[in-house]
Amino acid sequence: MQKILLHTCCAPCSASTISLLQEQYDIVSFWYNPNIYPLQEYELRKKAWQEYMQFLKIRITEKNAQWLSNDELYESVWLDKAVRCDKGRCYFCYEKRLEETAIRAKELGILNFSTTLLASPYQKHEDIQQLAQNIAELNGLNFVYIDPRKIFYTGVNQVKKIGLYSQKYCGCKLSIRK
Ligand code: SF4
Repeated sequence: MQKILLHTCCAPCSASTISLLQEQYDIVSFWYNPNIYPLQEYELRKKAWQEYMQFLKIRITEKNAQWLSNDELYESVWLDKAVRCDKGRCYFCYEKRLEETAIRAKELGILNFSTTLLASPYQKHEDIQQLAQNIAELNGLNFVYIDPRKIFYTGVNQVKKIGLYSQKYCGCKLSIRK
């Protein structure tokens, strides 16, 4: 079975994504989500991810946000850059996470990658698909496209059922207000 590196934004989005990939691929889940604010929320989501992957017996790899050691860095290394992105802050947010996924896939010698960002009906699905495709081509990797949106809530409910944390907002500081 071929390996795939699955960028994983959170446990709730991973449930539907994994259900579509697991019969064909040997999944390694990759945590890289420097958009999530504040630190307490970051840790809650990361812990839920770790516990869910352990529950599913899926291997994990991670890269933590640079700003975690200093809360003020969040503004300079992430949020300021995101709001100045001419394609919008979400585009920046997807791009950085997918670029880092390609870097980690190459480090691990895994040719295929995908992302749980494709699961949520609240995200800009076509932007994510196009960005991932471009990043795959630039890095000589294979982006595996799936569309788990129709089973998104089934996945969210599975995660809630086993008592794992499920977030109330997208992730960045600006999304808290919505
Ligand atoms: S709203 Fe969500 S996708 Fe957009 S920048 Fe914030 S965390 Fe990222």
